[in-house]
Amino acid sequence: MNYDLHCHSSISDGVLAPADLVQRAAEKGVDVLGLTDHDDVSGLAEAAQAARAAGIGFVNGVEISVTWSGVTLHVVGLNIDPDNPDLQAGLAGIQQGRHARAERIGQELGKKGIAGAFEGALRHAANPRMIGRTHFARFLVEQGVCKDVRSVFRKYLVRGKPGYVAHEWTSLESAVAWIRAAGGQAVLAHPGRYDLKGKATRRLLAEFRELGGEGVEVVTGSHTPDQHALFAELANLHGLAASRGSDFHAPGEHGRELGGGPELPLKCTPIWHNWNLTNTRQNRTASKTVPT
Ligand code: AMP
Ligand code: MN
Ligand code: MN
Ligand code: MN
Repeated sequence: MNYDLHCHSSISDGVLAPADLVQRAAEKGVDVLGLTDHDDVSGLAEAAQAARAAGIGFVNGVEISVTWSGVTLHVVGLNIDPDNPDLQAGLAGIQQGRHARAERIGQELGKKGIAGAFEGALRHAANPRMIGRTHFARFLVEQGVCKDVRSVFRKYLVRGKPGYVAHEWTSLESAVAWIRAAGGQAVLAHPGRYDLKGKATRRLLAEFRELGGEGVEVVTGSHTPDQHALFAELANLHGLAASRGSDFHAPGEHGRELGGGPELPLKCTPIWHNWNLTNTRQNRTASKTVPT
């Protein structure tokens, strides 16, 4: 079974509308998809409906932006109830912060002679509530300032570069609490991407587990084979389940193709080990062949 439990639609910084994303996932052989847009759950209803039509499994997800010990982290929530008021209020707060940060990014880029970046980025954001650095990057590529999204990040949008604006996201505690209030499982996204030493990573995993976190992404678009092994080991050590996701955003951009990447290492406990999914390709095939 191919589980892809981390990807983005145009509701955040992906390029495909939720239904088109699901269609592509089905074509790429994904059996169970989790849509995890940054700080927004408004694509889930459309995606769930498309998944039913395509005959693949679907779980409601979100990827919440967090600041922990001065470092930006991402926490994925899986099997959340998107209508939960605590979750919705929390995400609304983050979205306001994103808007304010985006105005400042626009001002910083303006000082470097790049005019109209805020408005330009907003044009690239299908959902104005969720504006992020990727939208700025696509605008700068469109303007011919850089050749691709990756080089915009390298030259403008990361710490120490002219368009970088430091931002305080929500706390790890709040993100986990909202996910749990919404009945979901909290999973630490792409741990290999954070600028943390081994000791800080172990402190993070311990604290995350203490707060109610249940899993960690072991296989994700930005991990190397060494990191698959490392985080499988650390997940087991800290009593956390393992998750798998592509972090797909757009064909040929940041992240893997939908459903891509190796299977979880055998020693892991998959985050889906006790899920009861009814609408998957396999169940469909089974229900056609098993007489009722
Ligand atoms: P934001 O949450 O607005 O700060 O944007 C974070 C997003 O930017 C991530 O989810 C990625 O989609 C994208 N991103 C971050 N770093 C890079 C990079 N080096 N190259 C391309 N995309 C990146
Ligand atoms: Mn992203
Ligand atoms: Mn992320
Ligand atoms: Mn992501």
